[in-house]
Amino acid sequence: MKPEDFAQLPLPPKALENLAQMGYTAMTPIQQQSLPVILQGRDIIAQAQTGSGKTAAFGIGLLEKINPRFFGVQGLILCPTRELATQVATELRKLARYLDNIKIVSICGGQPIGPQIGSLEHGAHIVIGTPGRLRDHLRKQTLNLESLHTLILDEADRMLDMGFEDDIRFIIGATPEKRQTLLFSATYPDTIEAMSAAYQFDPLRVSVESQHDDSTIEQAYITYKNQDKTETLAALLQHFAPEAAIIFCNTKQTCSDMVAALRNYGLKSLALHGDLEQRDRDQVLIRFSNGSCRYLFATDVAARGLDIDSVDLVINADLPADPAVYTHRIGRTGRAGRQGMAISLCSDRETYRLKRIEELQTQAIKALKPLASPSPDKVPEPAKMTTLCIAGGRKDKLRPGDILGALTASGELTGDAIGKINVTDFSAYVAIERAVSPRALELLKQGKIKGRSFKVRRL
Ligand code: AMP
Repeated sequence: MKPEDFAQLPLPPKALENLAQMGYTAMTPIQQQSLPVILQGRDIIAQAQTGSGKTAAFGIGLLEKINPRFFGVQGLILCPTRELATQVATELRKLARYLDNIKIVSICGGQPIGPQIGSLEHGAHIVIGTPGRLRDHLRKQTLNLESLHTLILDEADRMLDMGFEDDIRFIIGATPEKRQTLLFSATYPDTIEAMSAAYQFDPLRVSVESQHDDSTIEQAYITYKNQDKTETLAALLQHFAPEAAIIFCNTKQTCSDMVAALRNYGLKSLALHGDLEQRDRDQVLIRFSNGSCRYLFATDVAARGLDIDSVDLVINADLPADPAVYTHRIGRTGRAGRQGMAISLCSDRETYRLKRIEELQTQAIKALKPLASPSPDKVPEPAKMTTLCIAGGRKDKLRPGDILGALTASGELTGDAIGKINVTDFSAYVAIERAVSPRALELLKQGKIKGRSFKVRRL
């Protein structure tokens, strides 16, 4: 028997037959690594993206433990969005076809609560949903998690990005301490590690691809004459058209100068440096990580401890003096199995620095051919999203679900046009697709959020 055969697993013949009928002939790598352990009842923390087969990994494990004759919630799956919850529910229903009468209920925000209460009353074995709405049901006591044995956090990093941390804590607080907890996340920022430490027992770490594999980062450099530095940078951004790029400078003065200089080429960017007030720093980071700004200039000090997802391109506008700093900078791209690129600008007088850096790398840093001058006809598209800032936050008891609700209540906007929602103590930020952002701004200004009016502006 091959290691990827499902028949390796202690599953009943009916379950195996159903998998074969679904066309699942072999386990995917994440399934091979995690299913034997999940079936033993152990906690896992897994790095896995959509497309890896992660849903079946936790789904098969969960279904094996469900007792169909007991009508209480035995398994709970937390997802960041309604779209993902719906996908997970669809896959789980297919996987459960070999079992009789397993009730799988999906409970998400932005939908009427009445019918949800009805479905929960009828008894559900498995609940899949978004954290804000699940918390509402717990508060109303229309959801009881006292008999739960398996808790799954899907796309945990995204849930934290969307500001669901408090809701997740509340929900976990309502589950029995003795339970199996499976945590899936595309990235492992410190916040995820902390969550695992708080809520998991001796979890096994499962990772399909290593996160900092050198080979996923293509490294290159381009030489320029001193007076042409910003022009070279603008040409690079135009040529490679990255969705998101971090551009490192050695000083905060260069960061600010570059933001101004790029504007002349029609490129909008933001700068992150040590002099920013906390609130401005938050706003810059939020706008960059929610897709409202494509280019972020940063100094090494300001970028320390930055918690942002992988970017497509890292540019060294200045070469760092210390080769270790170079390695650290380029580690911001090519994460989580994605392909990344790092390009260094190197003046004709800096080639010695580049040599020293290259000695520390396991692969060569390629020379790029000279690029055409930036042209006003080929200005890259502006960022996809725009950020709206609401003058109310955690201290006003605002939650992401409330903002999502206010935006989608009239039915004019759908969840797809809405991106990340960040709620800080006194403000909340929501990313909206640029094209519909004027309408979203009107909806928020005219309507109410949680029954109250808030000042809203575009950043
Ligand atoms: P996911 O990563 O859970 O979003 O799954 C990605 C896709 O792969 C889904 O369409 C699944 O139906 C499918 N899939 C999951 N496991 C297998 C498998 N072992 N063989 C073939 N397809 C699979």
